[in-house]
Amino acid sequence: MTMHAIESLPVAVIGGGPVGLAAAAHLVSRGLPVKLYEAGPQVGANIRDWGHVRVFTPWRYCVDAASVALLERQGWTLPPADAFPTGGDLVRDYLEPLAATPELADVIETEARVTAISRLGVDKVVSHAREARPFVLAVKTVTGTRRDLARAVIDASGTWATPNPLGASGLPAQGELEFADRIAYGIPDVLGRHRDIYASRTALVVGAGHSAANALLDLVRLAEADADTKAIWATRSTNLVRIYGGGDADQLPARGELGADTRELVESGRVPLVAGFAILAIREEGGRLMIDGETAEGPRTIGPVDHIVAATGQRPDLSLTRELRLDLDPWLESTKALGPLIDPNEHSCGSVPPHGHRELAHLEPGFYTVGIKSYGRAPTFLLLTGYEQVRSVAAAIAGDMAAADNVQLVLPETGVCVTSFEVEGASAGCCGGPAPERSDACCVADAVAKDEGKTGCGCGVAA
Ligand SMILES: Cc1cc2nc3c(=O)[nH]c(=O)nc-3n(C[C@H](O)[C@H](O)[C@H](O)COP(=O)(O)OP(=O)(O)OC[C@H]3O[C@@H](n4cnc5c(N)ncnc54)[C@H](O)[C@@H]3O)c2cc1C
Repeated sequence: MTMHAIESLPVAVIGGGPVGLAAAAHLVSRGLPVKLYEAGPQVGANIRDWGHVRVFTPWRYCVDAASVALLERQGWTLPPADAFPTGGDLVRDYLEPLAATPELADVIETEARVTAISRLGVDKVVSHAREARPFVLAVKTVTGTRRDLARAVIDASGTWATPNPLGASGLPAQGELEFADRIAYGIPDVLGRHRDIYASRTALVVGAGHSAANALLDLVRLAEADADTKAIWATRSTNLVRIYGGGDADQLPARGELGADTRELVESGRVPLVAGFAILAIREEGGRLMIDGETAEGPRTIGPVDHIVAATGQRPDLSLTRELRLDLDPWLESTKALGPLIDPNEHSCGSVPPHGHRELAHLEPGFYTVGIKSYGRAPTFLLLTGYEQVRSVAAAIAGDMAAADNVQLVLPETGVCVTSFEVEGASAGCCGGPAPERSDACCVADAVAKDEGKTGCGCGVAA
């Protein structure tokens, strides 16, 4: 196939979440042919799963500029910029109208799951002239699996459908598969469609992120109406800075509030917390579940409980890209360049320096990972990050390298940047100051401070 013929092929976008749709919006705005594949029956399939949860960024931080431009041509107006949508609101008031714009409606195929990606006629081993061959995608639909060709591929397929197991080792705990019918991965709708499952029962919530916080707060709200409902909370880490957050110092007040409310549940004794609990096994005793684990003080068992909510994060599905030459961070499975910036072993920052096509590319020319999947197992992704990612990637694919390299991003800071989890009192944070004018995320402030011979973040001193 000639280069000319390859360039007339569409750019394939995998995933109709907010970032995949934004990628398509940027590509069509540049006049490039696009094909977007969405596995679910409608766009926003992953967000629909947590549609009852209110996000912690207001509307103005939830939308992408190129997408808004397409929407406004249809008379759409932004919902109140400072209001906080639920996941369901995001889908109904933003993603669905966006997918229905004339520019995008024709390029989106739903119930189309990409199951594998390779290059036409060569496998991963062949080096010679790979870039001269188009991508080939295996696309599974209700009528069977077909092969589509593409000039470039943007993987925005998210991580929501591949949750981490409860087992502290990253493998399913003993018994986890056996008792899967009593384990909910993600954020069950405790006050809505799943109410009957949790009412008058005891649930163990596992995890130390915002998903766990949401589940715990909902269980406590349910307990206010139904006194027999109980929640227990277990975390693998003993450091809860990431979930308790920056409180008033968080430039996203709703996120700060979520953390502060969760802390209050524990401190008021309404939710017993077992921190530093590494889950090893789940077993049944008298028809209820007992959870065996290890703590710094030795073995410990939590239970009996009726249900477990596994809010233990997600990991990317790498089977999709098995036949491509990927460049991944060895433990986060994020794109390699992003790894050191978002490593939760090193810091808890909710923001990263601006980045674009160069950080999101792989050894495989023309393939990019974007959106929450680009962060791999790291938990701190924000939509605004994804929107700037795809603006840059679309520009690079269009050959507009000046625009592609001009990455700019203003992210609200978390108010807490901890770079050493050994430091006691680090939760006092050091990054709660005013937002730097451009993109200077708290991790950057940390690096700069260290370069200047100062202590940087993690010192427990306000910057
Ligand atoms: C509970 C919760 C609250 C959050 N709150 C905020 C917030 O307040 N602010 C913020 O900025 N961010 C927030 N985030 C983080 C992040 O912005 C969201 O997770 C967002 O949905 C990520 O968008 P995405 O497009 O990368 O992935 P997703 O929204 O997960 O979309 C991926 C899409 O790809 C599809 N797909 C998957 N595999 C395939 C395949 N093989 N073939 C075809 N299609 C496929 C899926 O069906 C899905 O529609 C939150 C996340 C969660 C879970």
